[in-house]
Amino acid sequence: MTIAGQIRLLLKALEPWAAANAGSVKVANDKPHLFQLLGASPGVPIHIRAERETICASCEENLSGRCRKCGCGVRAQWIRKTHLATERCPLEPPKWTEWR
Ligand code: SF4
Repeated sequence: MTIAGQIRLLLKALEPWAAANAGSVKVANDKPHLFQLLGASPGVPIHIRAERETICASCEENLSGRCRKCGCGVRAQWIRKTHLATERCPLEPPKWTEWR
């Protein structure tokens, strides 16, 4: 099967999950965003992850491990934006930023 075919299958398999979680979690806008959310984006070192999670843990927008601003899991959910190099806190100014 081609890569394009595999991507189509993956997107189709995720449709029920995306529909069930629309508005409550961050849902990908396009394929690159989807792969980023699934962890295909570069990760961050453990100490950066720990720093971000410490910041999120004491943030007023953290509601039981989910950020109320962006809907992302910031603690125990399987999509953890704190692990992804390209993610940042949605506040302006952000409490933490992308890691390079
Ligand atoms: S991502 Fe930013 S706004 Fe969301 S919980 Fe973490 S520090 Fe707070």
